[in-house]
Amino acid sequence: MTLETKSNPSRQKKIRKPTTSWAAVFLVAFLLLQTSRLDSNAKPASNAFHDDQILVMPRKDTNAKTLLLFHAEHKAEVVRTFEGIRGLQVVRVPEGETAERIAAAYEKSGLVEFAEPDYAIHAALTPNDPYFVDGTLWGLNNTGQNGKADADIDAPEAWDVLNSASNIVVAVLDTGVRFTHEDLAANIWVNPNDGGHGFNAFTGTNDVADENGHGTLVSGVLGAVGNNGKGVTGVAWRVQMMAGKCLDSSGSGSNSTLIACMEYARTNGAKIVNASLDSPTFSLAVSNAILALRDAGIIFVASAGNNGANIDTSPRYPACYEIDNIVSVGASTRLDTVWSLSNFGATNVDIFAPGEQIQTTWSPSDNFYTSIFSGTSYSAPYVSGALALLLARYPLETHQQIISRLMNGADHVPDFAGKCVTGGRLNLRNALSPPITLAVLPTAASQPFQLRLSGGPNRLCVIDSTTNLISWLPVYTNTTAADGTFDFTDPASTNSPRRFFRAVAAP
Ligand code: CA
Ligand code: CA
Repeated sequence: MTLETKSNPSRQKKIRKPTTSWAAVFLVAFLLLQTSRLDSNAKPASNAFHDDQILVMPRKDTNAKTLLLFHAEHKAEVVRTFEGIRGLQVVRVPEGETAERIAAAYEKSGLVEFAEPDYAIHAALTPNDPYFVDGTLWGLNNTGQNGKADADIDAPEAWDVLNSASNIVVAVLDTGVRFTHEDLAANIWVNPNDGGHGFNAFTGTNDVADENGHGTLVSGVLGAVGNNGKGVTGVAWRVQMMAGKCLDSSGSGSNSTLIACMEYARTNGAKIVNASLDSPTFSLAVSNAILALRDAGIIFVASAGNNGANIDTSPRYPACYEIDNIVSVGASTRLDTVWSLSNFGATNVDIFAPGEQIQTTWSPSDNFYTSIFSGTSYSAPYVSGALALLLARYPLETHQQIISRLMNGADHVPDFAGKCVTGGRLNLRNALSPPITLAVLPTAASQPFQLRLSGGPNRLCVIDSTTNLISWLPVYTNTTAADGTFDFTDPASTNSPRRFFRAVAAP
């Protein structure tokens, strides 16, 4: 039985908004033991608060003088009292104390119903780039503009967790890049040896000027500079994009130019390779070059191609090479459907990502933007940008672990079922910071109560318990396994009063 917060979407939405600070949105499942009713709530992370104040609710039967004495003993000053909210007090944390320690002291005193740090709140993090603000970038945040609300990758929610992958080098194997573009320049990789920005496989030089435009379009989706007040924003606001020019002014190249750029990427520090290109021909040479990337832990992102075909039966390469560092990406629309010309395949396409009318940077000038193009070429860099953020967040994980996070985070939308391995569309927020949920495991009536926590792999989480929904106590702390879960058996459940449980990430 999976008791996801989806069971109450309206409430979940309402309460999520004000708590979207970094690491601050954790879904919390309350379980009412007697009836097994499930509800959801959100709680800010305990590391996101103003450290100089706490909020204290005096007990109804607490003598005001006794409480005053307690304040004085702890050198804690009452800054404000809200008489209309049962006397709730804002208390200044004395010097040399921490908000958490002093709050714990109040809770222990028995004088208060609760004492908690003054948790920070702020509006969801949205960048000021004009094409984001006006809704043109529907794939990042879709409120229903000419399409379906939430047919997007939940980028603002994810950016609250992390928006910069400034230390991650992503090689864009394409037609080059307009590296002077106003919305790309700051995110273009610089070769420390020659000051160049990549490799031109046709000339053997570092001249990566984009004579076609395709590479500049792709680069803007992946990593146009976010929140700089200009143009668009990439999936990653900050990243280092290396250009591997393997396609010429007509957008054509060969396996040898592709391999030469892959070798350059491998030997110059790239962690991800984006290949928005395809061919109907299997090549042993290319597959061996991808294996060399795999052995170096580099992820290879391939567009699935634009033939409107099932590539399980009509393969396209590199998407269809069976190598575990390849992520193959189809194109989704603003209605959350498979784009009409996107390739698909239950085995050979891994995930879908926005690829229709994607506003991005273009090469005619340094301030040129367009949204006239559609295709899996734009879906692949959505995924490459997402992977860059995942690598920045989980630097010690292997390429398989990072890819698993991406795949496990997919939004399961009906139109993608059976069309790709995940049956879903990229959701950056779920990949970067999976929701924490609790589910009741079925047990016999006489047996102790069992819960399963899910929250993504290798994550330290705490299960809290309460009888009154006011004072919560941690009852179990553990790290989730590779499958993203751990189980909790409550030995006291057979003879204790009604209790509620919630799960949060450990501070
Ligand atoms: Ca959304
Ligand atoms: Ca921008």
